[in-house]
Amino acid sequence: MPETPVPSTATSHPLRILITGSAGFVGSHLVERFLNEGHTVIGVDNYISGQVSNTDLFRDHPRFTFIEADVSHGIPYTGEKLDWVMHFASPASPPHYQQFPVETLMVGAQGTQNGLELAHAHSAGFFLASTSEVYGDPHVHPQPETYWGNVNPIGVRSCYDEAKRYAEAITMAYHRSRGVNTRIIRIFNTYGPRMRPDDGRVITNFVHQALRGEPLTVYGDGSQTRSFQYIDDLVEGISRLMMVKYHDPVNLGNPDEFTMLELVEVIQRVIGNNVECVYYEIPLDDPRQRKPAIEKAKEIIDWVPEVSLLQGLKEAYKL
Ligand code: NAD
Ligand code: UDP
Repeated sequence: MPETPVPSTATSHPLRILITGSAGFVGSHLVERFLNEGHTVIGVDNYISGQVSNTDLFRDHPRFTFIEADVSHGIPYTGEKLDWVMHFASPASPPHYQQFPVETLMVGAQGTQNGLELAHAHSAGFFLASTSEVYGDPHVHPQPETYWGNVNPIGVRSCYDEAKRYAEAITMAYHRSRGVNTRIIRIFNTYGPRMRPDDGRVITNFVHQALRGEPLTVYGDGSQTRSFQYIDDLVEGISRLMMVKYHDPVNLGNPDEFTMLELVEVIQRVIGNNVECVYYEIPLDDPRQRKPAIEKAKEIIDWVPEVSLLQGLKEAYKL
């Protein structure tokens, strides 16, 4: 007997989907997936951390429209009824959000509320991209969705962490009090093609440094851990969650955990060169460890990540 296929946007009727942050790394992959599935997509971005080249990929597509706007000031969409508002706009790399702390707080707060209002007005679903950063520097390992976190509310990462915690809170409030059909995902470190080379996150830094023959910039002693997810796995999880009425947060991440020194070894294997490391001070409030508990995603959308770090790096950088 064939297994019942898990519902996803691939099998749904054509949808009209508005995506904030469409010129960013994750947003651009969502645009691509939904257009390929026959849906209509409206992208919105102000390029604070995105790339015009990510919009150019779809500019001529007959089912894609782009609106250049800061969603913290409003989402100027006046078109036909939407089925989904997907709120992915926010600087996400620590150097970016620390360069724009007020804008990051605003897009998590005002931007999220503007998205919720738009979804409410269209009786559309609202999908929030939250983050593993809501767990802060976690005292529980791995991190299940039930963990409330350990966040410094005034530290250098607070503009991002507290913005996302507020975004989750207001999303639940609109669900509970106004009946909006919401989803919340907590994304763990994700990488893939179309990240900005100067993004500043560890995978892009290490790969580009290794390709240029430069030493890799390890912060601290490199014993801190992260768990890296390939973009295709994330997009598959998002697509499945849209089809399941589940409103509490869901972790989407790959539980394979690496120290930064182990990541150096993997990069060395992929690039094939001998790489050297140069050590810098650990940034303030840098979480010591991070690994998603993914039982909830397994249970409700039958999802597990399929791409290993080695495979994903080869695929992302064509190595
Ligand atoms: P990114 O910086 O590549 O993309 C974010 C996009 O949002 C950019 O194009 C930026 O210009 C746009 N944006 C920001 N503020 C805006 C505003 N006020 N109005 C309009 N557009 C605005 O980052 P990403 O990695 O693609 O992250 C996308 C989303 O996923 C973010 O919400 C981020 O918090 C979340 N997330 C990503 C990761 C990851 O590892 N990539 C992990 C956790 C959470
Ligand atoms: N990191 C590093 N070298 C770099 C960039 C980052 O050692 O060039 C470390 C950073 O201190 C953190 C981890 O890599 O411990 C992941 O950092 P990233 O900025 O990718 O994401 P985070 O999970 O901290 O938001």
